[in-house]
Amino acid sequence: MSSQSPRKILVTSALPYANGSIHLGHLVEYIQTDIWVRFQKMQGNECHYVCADDTHGTPIMLRAEKEGITPEQLIARVWQEHYDDFAAFHVQFDNYGSTNSAENKQCAQDIYRTLKASGLIEVRSIEQYYDPVKNMFLPDRFIKGECPKCHAKDQYGDNCEACGAAYAPTDLINPFSAVSGAKPELRNSDHYFFKLSADTCQQFLREWTRSGALQAEAANKMQEWLGAEDENKLSDWDISRDAPYFGFEIPDAPGKYFYVWLDAPVGYMGSFKQLCAKNTLTPSPSPGGRGEQELPLPLGEGWGEGTPLNFDDYWKQGSDTELYHFIGKDILYFHALFWPAMLQHAGFRTPTKLFAHGWLTVNGTKMSKSRGTFITARSYVDHIKNTEYLRYYYAAKLNGSMEDLDLNLEDFVAKVNSDLIGKYVNIASRASGFITKHFDGTIQSLADEKFQILINETRGRVAEAYEARDYAKAVREIMSLADHINADFDSSKPWEKAKKLDDAGAKELLHIICSKALHGFKAMSLMLFPVLPKTARAGLGLFRAGNNPQWHDIGLSLEQKINTYAHLMTRLDPELIKAMVAANQESLKPAPESHSPTRHAEAQQHQPSPLAPLPPAGEGNMIAPIAETISIDDFSKIDLRVAHIVNAEHVEGAEKLLKLTLDIGEEKPRTVFAGIKSAYDPEKLKGRMTVMVANLAPRKMKFGMSEGMVLAASGETPGLFVLSPDDGAMPGMRIK
Ligand SMILES: [Zn+2]
Repeated sequence: MSSQSPRKILVTSALPYANGSIHLGHLVEYIQTDIWVRFQKMQGNECHYVCADDTHGTPIMLRAEKEGITPEQLIARVWQEHYDDFAAFHVQFDNYGSTNSAENKQCAQDIYRTLKASGLIEVRSIEQYYDPVKNMFLPDRFIKGECPKCHAKDQYGDNCEACGAAYAPTDLINPFSAVSGAKPELRNSDHYFFKLSADTCQQFLREWTRSGALQAEAANKMQEWLGAEDENKLSDWDISRDAPYFGFEIPDAPGKYFYVWLDAPVGYMGSFKQLCAKNTLTPSPSPGGRGEQELPLPLGEGWGEGTPLNFDDYWKQGSDTELYHFIGKDILYFHALFWPAMLQHAGFRTPTKLFAHGWLTVNGTKMSKSRGTFITARSYVDHIKNTEYLRYYYAAKLNGSMEDLDLNLEDFVAKVNSDLIGKYVNIASRASGFITKHFDGTIQSLADEKFQILINETRGRVAEAYEARDYAKAVREIMSLADHINADFDSSKPWEKAKKLDDAGAKELLHIICSKALHGFKAMSLMLFPVLPKTARAGLGLFRAGNNPQWHDIGLSLEQKINTYAHLMTRLDPELIKAMVAANQESLKPAPESHSPTRHAEAQQHQPSPLAPLPPAGEGNMIAPIAETISIDDFSKIDLRVAHIVNAEHVEGAEKLLKLTLDIGEEKPRTVFAGIKSAYDPEKLKGRMTVMVANLAPRKMKFGMSEGMVLAASGETPGLFVLSPDDGAMPGMRIK
């Protein structure tokens, strides 16, 4: 690598919203990005990692008001919390900024002005709920009322938590403002739109989709969103909100503010601008930009301190630098459509690639407060302390795809203890003692050519895997090297040689065995450095290595003095996990908190779009075989009906069953026992519609007679999904 000129790379992670704590779900992304960035820096590439808190919006404004502080005070406090959490997990940004910065404001306004000059901004009057007491327009989440479908009370303006129906706030029955309790009024207001439906955007996006910027599964999604060449499936995006609002005012539009779409992603640019300011000759960082965490990693070769970093080199159209966004699959729609179209038409470069990833599940299901698996970063640090355990576990599971990642807590303990303690650290602790005691702390150069080749080949495969973000493969390769080293060490029985030290041959063999193991340990430490920056650095300290480990150091196996071994890592005690889960269960709060890591994800649900939720990645290639072909007559024998779930309840003594009362328009409702207890809270089923087999022979069960069957989907992965008809279907309608 050193013979080539270093790549110039800018990397971002999605901006966390300044209205909540960082949790283990967020960390999947930040740890993943940090590993990749550290790998690039080890390669000698010039790689910059920026991020920022997403700080604007009504929720921030209202929360600050509730706490009796200014929004600026609130976001400063949350910024510090986020910053400390990331630092604790060794996520090392080159700049961690805030979207409420002068740099970001400048970028957002510049982009807006250019888009406006190109005729891509349009003003339209929108009818929206207004709180006459609070004197403000209400976001959907701040309007509550009765669900128009199941009539559950106290539901949000965008969807019902009881029946899952999605609707507009104007559909709610007896709506009220969640802020003041007042009855909201419909009022008109001018909103600003980015014309994503314009031909120029459509044409550009069709081309961009084919440019290789997207993972295959994401490119397929894009084709679906864009539709056929003669279709126009994209809608315009609402980029404004009315005062009072905490954010940036739109130039020449008093009382109108940029909504999330414009000022949050532009935060990538604003934060990088701050980094540029830090890297010029100006000694003091600009306001809002904060310093580096822990020991800043020196940049790659050819990158001296004080070398000016130029914003335009990385952002202007035609730039030959690389730009990568690590994002959750939930904000792919935004990052693959709106963001590149906006950049393109504002004179900026578009991303080289989007790296979308899946969700975190814990023990196979969604993170849950009632199960204690909705774990904050802070709580992990308080209970487990060593954050590299989690970095390692995530790395061992990440493969560069959009698949969900499962944190199985039992497996977590087993894997960390077996790999990191049992295989990796173990090598150094066993071999270094003999070297210190009997060989004056000096290891020999590596004479075993086969082993040298194995190290070099492993190094190549691990580098390829890191580059492709297949960290799981990188970890497997490194651990297979550890297995080789340990097996070799054990079969050479060094402890026996250590008993015959007056035999020169035995002593020499002992020296060879231990030197070889330690050269292997050193290579492993370098390869693990992107994942375990702290422990690997400590491990390399044994070899008196500097703070700036480089990839090409792997495989240098010369004679050298080593330091005395110092303890590197403790076993992960399963009791700590139990205590952490229990503590998170205790801190259960009644108010529902968003699981979405970013505000984009939430806001995206409010954007008119042809977007169907992304299927969990991997779906579609793991389906059960299709059954034998049947005739239409065979199918028509099955009488499927739309059913209204009048009641749902637990059945005493039944592990899997719920008792459902179903109305299909007959005189008397039917009773059906359904094996869906594991997936559904009966309260949430009440009132919703589903589909049932109405002509199935009644079946006598332990708990009573079951008079039919409801339809549910399931697959190889955990989860069970009861079917529902679209809005408007009535109980008793036949499904054909
Ligand atoms: Zn409902």
